[in-house]
Amino acid sequence: MSTVLVLNADFGLLGVVSARRAAHLLMDGRVVPETGVELAAVFRSSSTVIEVPQVVRRRTYIYVPHPATRLRKWSKFGVLQRDGYVCAYCGVQLNGVTATVDHIKPQWLSAKDGTEPDTWENTVCSCVRCQKLKGGSTLKEFLSRYKRIYDLHAPHPTAPKARRMIRHEGVIPASWRVYGAF
Ligand SMILES: [Zn+2]
Repeated sequence: MSTVLVLNADFGLLGVVSARRAAHLLMDGRVVPETGVELAAVFRSSSTVIEVPQVVRRRTYIYVPHPATRLRKWSKFGVLQRDGYVCAYCGVQLNGVTATVDHIKPQWLSAKDGTEPDTWENTVCSCVRCQKLKGGSTLKEFLSRYKRIYDLHAPHPTAPKARRMIRHEGVIPASWRVYGAF
């Protein structure tokens, strides 16, 4: 039985479900197919054909608190500690001098829609190079621009459970890797 990677609305990793379960989520409209991804399965009934890609994405955002940060007040230092001073985008090991904190949703967008930019969910440890490349673009724009150049690591750090589920799968499809599943 093939499996399908489920992304949060912000492209964070949520977990892995069976292709059949993914077909139901697609039919319910709770997830949308990621384009340009290979098919995991095709289901046929008398009236419909459901094509299930290897990656689907939630229409609405699910809040997934990180166990290490659930109760702590946000701080740049806390973000760097949580991410182990590893750039969330390219995976390079940084230190207290070279590590910066990047806003996943760019700050100008947060200012525009009135959301708080400095939250555990919206910030990751980043190297200066990735931060400059991402600039004021959204994660989606950044990923689509650089997924060919980059062997991107986790775009979102709040998914230890998803990561365990992914590892459990053994062979990881190439289409999952661009979303940080490795
Ligand atoms: Zn980087």
